[in-house]
Amino acid sequence: MPIHLSSVNRRQFLSQSAAALAGVSVLRIGYAAPVAESMTLALLSDTHIPKSAKVTAREVNMTANLQQAVGQINQLPSKPAAVLFNGDCAYLSGLPADYANFANCIQPLIDADQELHMTMGNHDNIPAFYDALKTQRPEQPPVESKHVSILETPYANFFLLDSLMKTNVVTGELGDAQLKWLSDALDARADKPAIVMAHHTLQKVAPPEGKAWGGILDTAKFLELMHAKKQVKAYVFGHSHVWSHTRDGDLHLINLPASAYVFDPAQPNGWTLARLNNSGIEFELQAHDQSHQNHQQVFAVKW
Ligand SMILES: [Zn+2]
Repeated sequence: MPIHLSSVNRRQFLSQSAAALAGVSVLRIGYAAPVAESMTLALLSDTHIPKSAKVTAREVNMTANLQQAVGQINQLPSKPAAVLFNGDCAYLSGLPADYANFANCIQPLIDADQELHMTMGNHDNIPAFYDALKTQRPEQPPVESKHVSILETPYANFFLLDSLMKTNVVTGELGDAQLKWLSDALDARADKPAIVMAHHTLQKVAPPEGKAWGGILDTAKFLELMHAKKQVKAYVFGHSHVWSHTRDGDLHLINLPASAYVFDPAQPNGWTLARLNNSGIEFELQAHDQSHQNHQQVFAVKW
């Protein structure tokens, strides 16, 4: 989708509000300042926002955690090119009231004209999500019944996938139609590094008898695809409520922390500031508890 605009027109085009760009599944961001040599993104995952701001889980108020992160993002010294929510926006079963509270929490980001994108997790519900956040509904979904989008930036392209199989069922799935779309979309953008993002963890080995498949059911096909496209540098995911950086061969695996609660008390919760330039991307943990030993830890992916 080549767009040729003069720099003035380009700035005008890119300063349009998210609402004006509603329904766009392929978006160019970060081109507003042509002289910039880097850009930032704010990444959140597993916000688990319940219907009421009073609801707590595991001694955590999820609404307060998201409100704190939103305040911090709006106070960053330079505005991020986009704010990405990597699934499990809603608490457990993707209720309309969960998304109403979620929409309230992120209203300060909308007021600040931040570019917002969400992926869907196993606790999300696409129709309820679209009802509450109408600008997220694409006019023509690139993949039927899936919420996917592409963010093209000067330094790398982001492919935001949908691993939601069924609301409130832990298992994730991409499906052959989405994998075919991803393969074609990557082939059409082979000239730049690619970051692939979806909610669920990878899972190569089937679980023991009687246990649910907690990661992506079609991990084998998905991994084969990412390894086959040499521009894919990292897979970014959430779901496990763990902050970590591992690898599968040359592919970097970045596990975003939960904004909500943790399952392992040693793990931090918080959000992630990503810095991107011509030579790679860095992920810096913004722990809700700034005295956590991993606060401001940086995971670097070079290319
Ligand atoms: Zn979660």
